Amino acid sequence: MRPQPGKARLRTLRPRIETIDTRSAKVPEKVVDPHYLSPEHRRWRSEVIRRAGGRCEFPGCGRAEPRMFADHIRELKDGGSPLDPANGQCLCGACHSRKTIAARELRLSMPAGTPSGHGGRGPRGV
Ligand SMILES: [Zn+2]
Repeated sequence: MRPQPGKARLRTLRPRIETIDTRSAKVPEKVVDPHYLSPEHRRWRSEVIRRAGGRCEFPGCGRAEPRMFADHIRELKDGGSPLDPANGQCLCGACHSRKTIAARELRLSMPAGTPSGHGGRGPRGV
């Protein structure tokens, strides 16, 4: 059979082996903390973003994007206050991701029971 122009020759081939999950450590399902769905959180979020004029407060950034993040300076997992406006800062997506990853790294690198302050990592706890 000659290949016809414009038709993929291998399009009828299907994988013969099903993919299986071989991970020995299962990744826990991501569960949204109900706090983030509460009206109190939405009010806090609006206030933090409004106070910043919708601009990223990370030093040297100042970006304004359609989607801005109200970030807990001291994260809730680290014992930060969930609704205190003083524990909030408005961040753009890139700065929010960077800050969240840095905070997680710091948290995971410390033995359980160690206080998780963010001192010495730059302005505003980042
Ligand atoms: Zn930013």
